[in-house]
Amino acid sequence: MDSATGSSSAASQSESYEIVVVGGGVAGCFAAATAADQGADVVQIERKSEAKAGHIACGDAMKSPTDPDLYPGPIDMTAIAATDDVLIDGNIDQIEWWDEDIGVKKVLPYDSGSNVVDRYEFGRELLRQTATLGVDQEFNTVVNGVVQGEQVEGVEAVRDGRPVTYHADLVIDAGGSLSTVMAAVDFDELAAAPETTFEEPQYRQFGSAYREVLVTPEDVPYDNALVGKPLEELGYVWYFPRTAREINVGLGFQMSEEPVELVDRLREDIRDRPEYQGAEHAEVDGTADKLGAALGLRRPLDSMVAPGYITVGCNAGATHPISGKGIRGAAVTGFSAGKHGARAVREDEDGFVSEADLWPHNYFVYVEHGLGTTIASKDPYNVAAANAGMENVRAAVALLPETEIADVVSSAEDSFGITNAVDLASGVLRNAVDLYRNDVFEQLDTSKRAVLATLGDFVQTRIYADRLERHYANYPETREEFFEWRDTRDALDAALDEQIGIPARDSKY
Ligand SMILES: Cc1cc2nc3c(=O)[nH]c(=O)nc-3n(C[C@H](O)[C@H](O)[C@H](O)COP(=O)(O)OP(=O)(O)OC[C@H]3O[C@@H](n4cnc5c(N)ncnc54)[C@H](O)[C@@H]3O)c2cc1C
Repeated sequence: MDSATGSSSAASQSESYEIVVVGGGVAGCFAAATAADQGADVVQIERKSEAKAGHIACGDAMKSPTDPDLYPGPIDMTAIAATDDVLIDGNIDQIEWWDEDIGVKKVLPYDSGSNVVDRYEFGRELLRQTATLGVDQEFNTVVNGVVQGEQVEGVEAVRDGRPVTYHADLVIDAGGSLSTVMAAVDFDELAAAPETTFEEPQYRQFGSAYREVLVTPEDVPYDNALVGKPLEELGYVWYFPRTAREINVGLGFQMSEEPVELVDRLREDIRDRPEYQGAEHAEVDGTADKLGAALGLRRPLDSMVAPGYITVGCNAGATHPISGKGIRGAAVTGFSAGKHGARAVREDEDGFVSEADLWPHNYFVYVEHGLGTTIASKDPYNVAAANAGMENVRAAVALLPETEIADVVSSAEDSFGITNAVDLASGVLRNAVDLYRNDVFEQLDTSKRAVLATLGDFVQTRIYADRLERHYANYPETREEFFEWRDTRDALDAALDEQIGIPARDSKY
């Protein structure tokens, strides 16, 4: 910290740092630790108490925690993963999809290196390492406003009941989904010609989710699997076993759909399951371990930077938990903001940290690392699935043979090869006969024609997903080229909408 003014009895205190990081979650820790490691003077602000910080709503499923490409930067993930309290289950090797109402169970192999962690202990280890790397940490401190002129210049906060202003050259907003910090910035008033590139998200880009950690009296039979089950809206219920008797159970859905009463719906789901009879809540810091939150479920923001400001993690939409990228999306974007933010501040000569100065953050996320591109290019499936309706998505999944599910949604080719088509068709036919025999189409209140149309839309969607992937992989290296790049992307969106018949009201989220 460069300076502190005001006395302890004064109404408002003022402190100055090079970088203020708001949020003590994964993105905040990776950002603060990386910036400090690069030599910046950093404060990390967290609204929770020191004891409760690290307690985050999360399904606890984490892919390959020791892979440095997935968790880059100075945080020592190998040491964290070696901590017994953090890494609970090293045993997950499959994903199971149970659609019990229609008698469907799909079992897909899941790469080794996927784990379920104790999210609270993991969060606490991250905070400890971040402090060790030289970051000042302020707990019980709630950011409730920003200081801004031509750029964002700091944040207003209340620390232990007293107002404090933190001045900084750069604010990294890691406040989680729908951050109140971002909401406080007036982006139109920042100096960025012809307009700011920063994309202010809408609520439809997020999901809503809730989870509890339950301790069961007996071992569950699926302790090596991440189990998913359909919800009536676009989303799913999960059972993620931390151990054979400690299960993270939860559910989430996309906010573009009708709201689901999450807690009641979860109760309804587990009420009659034998393994949860007599189960009790695990405790965290003396209270039952249950939490809900919004989360990023759609594509990352087109641009995450504005003058003096970068947003990361869930708030930047750079997290997609359904495809295992929630925690690591926060890690990658946090790392990038810390690294490129510290450099922009260090090299700044005109006292103005512009969008162009911060642009390497966007470029890293989309091109140099590429996680942003991976998440963004899968988003057409969210669009297509929401358009098809959950009944058709469920029937389509039931029709698809397990081995071909990945082919339909993950090929890098622009056209669907003849061999794939023949394999797929024969598998679909086989499953269709079974579904007929079991009256599945009637149960789901849909028709074979509608479900086949949905499958056709998914194949078309895959072609657009591949095109989008190539477009995002060409994300502009400089800010000047951004506007043209965005126009082309918008044209690709419009083409997908037309191809699969997205109504105008749903075409832009
Ligand atoms: C129910 C649920 C289940 C999930 N399951 C998984 C999963 O199984 N696997 C996976 O990879 N991902 C999962 N995710 C997503 C994952 O948890 C998030 O992507 C990740 O935690 C995002 O990290 P973050 O640092 O961006 O935000 P957060 O973890 O939300 O951290 C934000 C921090 O900022 C603090 N903060 C917010 N506002 C202020 C303020 N005004 N002042 C001071 N501090 C503030 C908060 O207290 C919090 O500590 C799940 C999310 C939810 C909600």
